[in-house]
Amino acid sequence: MTRSKGETAALRSVMMSRIRSKDTKPEMLVRKALHRLGFRFRLHGRDLPGRPDIVLPKYQVIIQVKGCFWHGHTCIDGRMPKSNREYWVPKLLRNKERDISNDRKLRRMGWSVRNLWECRICAISPERLDELLTRALHNKCPFPEK
Ligand SMILES: [Zn+2]
Repeated sequence: MTRSKGETAALRSVMMSRIRSKDTKPEMLVRKALHRLGFRFRLHGRDLPGRPDIVLPKYQVIIQVKGCFWHGHTCIDGRMPKSNREYWVPKLLRNKERDISNDRKLRRMGWSVRNLWECRICAISPERLDELLTRALHNKCPFPEK
């Protein structure tokens, strides 16, 4: 079956509207894990650059669950769309630049910024996620970035 350009665009926009929601499944997994581990956090710090997803004031740590498509991960989900490139390329590049600038501002304010990619959260076991979060919060070491 071949799809017209319009149909492909429509499909993509449906997919995007699913991805765009704030409480994405991988983010919920991370929040549940933090609860389970007893770490207190707040959500979407409105007073902070980029409104980071998860803020742990006690540890001075910010955890951001990054959607691979929107934030340009190097994985398969982070590839630039093939159609409508004049729209997507500048948009997605702007997202990346904004991420870098926000992370820099947060670090300058004294926060440790931990970025977790959605594909990675979905690929690991809950036990492994607990382990990563515990290590990142107690030892202040970053998540392995890939
Ligand atoms: Zn990814």
